[in-house]
Amino acid sequence: MTTPAFSPRIETNPNARSAADRAEILADPGFGNYFTDHMFLAEWTPDRDWHDARVVPYGPLSLDPATAVLHYAQEIFEGLKAYTHADGSVWLFRPEANALRMQRSAHRLALPELPVDWFIGSVKALIETDREWVPTGEERSLYLRPFMFASEVFLGVRPSQHVTYSVIASPAGAYFAEGVKPVDIWLSSQYSRAGFGGTGAAKCGGNYAASLLPQQEAAANGCAQVAFLDSVENRWIEELGGMNLYFVHADGTLVTPELSGSILEGVTRDSILAIAKDLGHEVVERRISIDDWRDGVADGTITEVFACGTAAVVTPVGKLKWDGGEVVSAEGESGKVTADIRSALLDVQYGRAKDTHGWMTQV
Ligand code: PMP
Repeated sequence: MTTPAFSPRIETNPNARSAADRAEILADPGFGNYFTDHMFLAEWTPDRDWHDARVVPYGPLSLDPATAVLHYAQEIFEGLKAYTHADGSVWLFRPEANALRMQRSAHRLALPELPVDWFIGSVKALIETDREWVPTGEERSLYLRPFMFASEVFLGVRPSQHVTYSVIASPAGAYFAEGVKPVDIWLSSQYSRAGFGGTGAAKCGGNYAASLLPQQEAAANGCAQVAFLDSVENRWIEELGGMNLYFVHADGTLVTPELSGSILEGVTRDSILAIAKDLGHEVVERRISIDDWRDGVADGTITEVFACGTAAVVTPVGKLKWDGGEVVSAEGESGKVTADIRSALLDVQYGRAKDTHGWMTQV
């Protein structure tokens, strides 16, 4: 069946917040605290494919207690940002990459794939309706959260026959309260994030639910994020709870864990593969063990470690801590390579540098 052409209905919010209320929120949005005046919704059923695309006033969804997602977690999501450039135009960073990743996530979770033009169209339609919510200024952006869930009212365990897709938007400042200061990482020794053959490469809510207990353990040990190892040998570095990792070596080479099937393929990770090459670095995707990390930082072979993702951009890692020890890769401030890569990425996103890779899409 061919999906109908994307043509959303727009219902404007009669109770949209005042310009003064919006200005107050945009002055200090933090991350994930506030939502714009509208949201996007569409439905999927086997007989009608994707349909009923609409932008409507932001508000609660009313769900029957037997809605499948509440029981079996058949749910996926995405995260991307819109940036205001100096001339006032608004741009998305690599939205097709998020659209394609959402299709891969949908496949793994037995959800219907959303066509790329529907994904990009839905994000643009919401931004156009809520254009005044796109922040301006240093490190400000509008974070977009597309998500899809099993909305059939049925308790049998099988793929849902009614699926709802939505996009909400949230003005964003810095992700970590500390700003670009190095963050400390807790090594989870007891828990894995994802298993071999599991859902680690999909962006599904269940992966994040499983990361919360180790995240609590990290917080109890003074760390902002958790590092996970592979679930088979408990030896190979995978990623953080919500970011990928890069290791800068003394000879200028950057190493990032290769895609294992249980790591999320970060759009930022992929972009840095290209940006680091542009900056003259050799970049290698390979397995890297926890001993390589600990010993490399201790003996100086690894000079910087950084985490990357849409929300936190590029964030230096300070300490790696575990039960019984720690190694320190940055104290107080970011290393130079980390800072240069961060700037190069932000310069493209905010339109201060030429978009040589064709990554930006105007809204
Ligand atoms: N790993 C995980 C587990 C994540 O949740 C994210 C954030 N989406 C990333 C990596 C980074 O991905 P991206 O660069 O696409 O934001």
